[in-house]
Amino acid sequence: SRKPIIAGNWKMNKTLLEAQEFVDAVKDNIPSSELVDTVIGAPALFLAPMAYSSRGTELKLSAQNSFWENSGAFTGENSPAAIADLGVQYIIIGHSERREYFHETDEDINKKAKAIIANGLTPILCCGETLETFEAGKTAEWVEGQITAGLKDLTPEQVSNLVIAYEPIWAIGTGKSATSEIADDTCGVVRATVEKLYGSEVADKVRIQYGGSVKPENVDEYMSKENIDGALVGGASLEAESFLALLNFVK
Ligand code: 13P
Repeated sequence: SRKPIIAGNWKMNKTLLEAQEFVDAVKDNIPSSELVDTVIGAPALFLAPMAYSSRGTELKLSAQNSFWENSGAFTGENSPAAIADLGVQYIIIGHSERREYFHETDEDINKKAKAIIANGLTPILCCGETLETFEAGKTAEWVEGQITAGLKDLTPEQVSNLVIAYEPIWAIGTGKSATSEIADDTCGVVRATVEKLYGSEVADKVRIQYGGSVKPENVDEYMSKENIDGALVGGASLEAESFLALLNFVK
């Protein structure tokens, strides 16, 4: 009974014109939000015009990051309050690319989660292990650690409303997607971690996405799994036709 959530993560791609052409191509072709939540995570620069052009449609928007303070002397950062003010509903936090290239820690990500929730938005909290950790058989303990630290001091109600994305780093942009069994198992570890920390009612409500080389040809298989409630999609979210095809599992 968890509503599916399909989110594109454009990463650092597109010009404003390309972003607007995408919105025009998809906005009236998205299934009802009673059936699926459909989200695009766009570069921050494009969120204001995209929010304007998608207003009143089923296309929801996400930022790819934000800071944890709402205002102040933080040159170059984006305020979660300002993002919320645009009508954006989600903010991705803790993506592996931000952890790796921008040295974000679990503690930073936890502060962001709290600030985002305080502004009425939904964090999409990312976790996932390297190939080395996967091959060492340490995925479960790694992901459990990231989730425990990322959710620190959140209330059960806050956790039940958020979205968690499991993205094995070895499956991101590589074309080597995790098998649906592996993806489901580790999403199950995420759910079990939430259950351990917050109880079964919260674990039953929290939505967990798989991410890593998801495309129209494999999305149905992931979506058929018990613990997978959605997908966080990079490459296959960039073209309107491919993005819309990701939503075909909704009958
Ligand atoms: P790809 O779908 O391109 O593998 O990217 C996954 C991802 O990192 C989404 O956040």
